Amino acid sequence: MLFRYKKILVVFIAILLIAVLAAPAHHAGAYVSSSANIRVGLFYKSGSKDTTLDTVMISSVGGIEIGANQNNAYTKIIETPYIVNAYVDIGVSGYHIKLGQATSDVTRLFDDLNTYKSMGFEVFPVCTNNNLWQLWEGCYLSQGDAERAITSKIIPKAGSGDYSVALPSTYRIIIKYSNGLAAIASESQQSFLMIKSTFNGEPKTVNINGDRYRNAIELRKYTDSQITVINQLTMGDYLNGVVPLEIGTVDTPFEALKAQAVAARTYAIANHKHEDQGFDVCNSTCCQVYGGYDVENLATNNAVKATEGMVATYGGALANLYYFSSSGGATANSENVWSQSVPYLRSVPDPYDNTRYWSYTFTAGEMTEHMRTLGRDIGTVNKIEVTMLSDSGRALELRVYGSNGSTVFKKVSTRSAFPTYLPSQIFSIGSGTHYTVKEGDNSLNSIELSGALVRTGSGTAAVSGVTNVFVKDADGRLVSIQVNASAQGDFVVTGAGSGHGVGMSQFGAMGMARAGYDYVEILKHYFTGIEIEKANLY
Ligand SMILES: [Zn+2]
Repeated sequence: MLFRYKKILVVFIAILLIAVLAAPAHHAGAYVSSSANIRVGLFYKSGSKDTTLDTVMISSVGGIEIGANQNNAYTKIIETPYIVNAYVDIGVSGYHIKLGQATSDVTRLFDDLNTYKSMGFEVFPVCTNNNLWQLWEGCYLSQGDAERAITSKIIPKAGSGDYSVALPSTYRIIIKYSNGLAAIASESQQSFLMIKSTFNGEPKTVNINGDRYRNAIELRKYTDSQITVINQLTMGDYLNGVVPLEIGTVDTPFEALKAQAVAARTYAIANHKHEDQGFDVCNSTCCQVYGGYDVENLATNNAVKATEGMVATYGGALANLYYFSSSGGATANSENVWSQSVPYLRSVPDPYDNTRYWSYTFTAGEMTEHMRTLGRDIGTVNKIEVTMLSDSGRALELRVYGSNGSTVFKKVSTRSAFPTYLPSQIFSIGSGTHYTVKEGDNSLNSIELSGALVRTGSGTAAVSGVTNVFVKDADGRLVSIQVNASAQGDFVVTGAGSGHGVGMSQFGAMGMARAGYDYVEILKHYFTGIEIEKANLY
């Protein structure tokens, strides 16, 4: 007995050893798995935003087919070379005649459809609320009109049968040809109308109200809005319509485009904010701006393809790759802009960012009015101070003083303390021509620039009027600031960079790419401790 157990044990250990040896030697982080397809909201209701449509114009080069999509199982129902329009069927012609019982047998449905058509009826298939298919006839202006048509038109030709009237419904979407005849309808809350191109070539796109989208379009009708339009396509095709809009494509080096493609892919897989509305991501800045086929270009398509499936992970889970335009010299710790400290969203120097400077002047009257608009009634504004700065030079706390008291803005909200939303959180405030500067010991000091003697290329001169003054920044580089000799009591806000400052600076990424860094090096520079690995897309 003992011997037999020993033998089994030896065999078991041998199998275990083979399994261990056969396993890959190295696995960086966990294996990220995600659908190879994505659903993008083009027109939708989300919170207070409602872009749903009462009319959707649909066409495609080579024609379209329309079917129903239920849990990703698609059934093709009709095909047409013409332009069609989708409407919510609560309009004046929303009465129809139901011909017989609903069925799950699509073959029988088409047999009956052809029989009715041969009798000259304007018949069309409808996906009913219990997910079956039924044939309906005509569009009538009233219930009475439809009832009269049953006796005067249907029964004389088709004989007596199971006929009834469908009333207008807010749940129903009806698709009609340009001549007003119905093509197909659905009032199911589980199966949704889906439209694809029948073009016998590439690319297969569907034109929705003038813009082209790859693969398939789904239409949904919810009770509290008009028609929701969803684009279902592959992750790669989605990114082709995102990357050009999220990073400039003119003269953008290829490695920077690749870094942006990985950031956009990782974001799209990690953030599905709109599942309650029937899709994964929307097409606006709420998620990532997506413009469909018409915004694609060869360079960004190539960058998407060259990084196919690549995503960023931290500690084995997907990382949230935030990005923005320009850092102003250094990126920000996440907790200095928002609230949470994220280990891979740390402040890093951004030496390749070609920093952009900006300046705004606000009068005391404009500031007073703005505080009132924000519901912070502090009387006439007479002083504004940055009272706390981060190591990367971002305003962490801003105090606005008025004749009736003061009010505080913190972190990213410091940007909304002014009548114009500030481009970034790196700024200083001068009253007239006073500028707040950061001293070597990190303390803040206010200096008067107007009238100050400065060294120029040809000697020494006094600053007066509106002048660009070049000053040396912390890294010893010359940067330009604008001295605005404005009226007494004005507030001059001068700053650097553009965007929230957390994660990858796009201008910095372009600079790094030009300096010879590849997309993995760029991403690893901006996101501390991440890994770039290939996701399993199924
Ligand atoms: Zn969104």
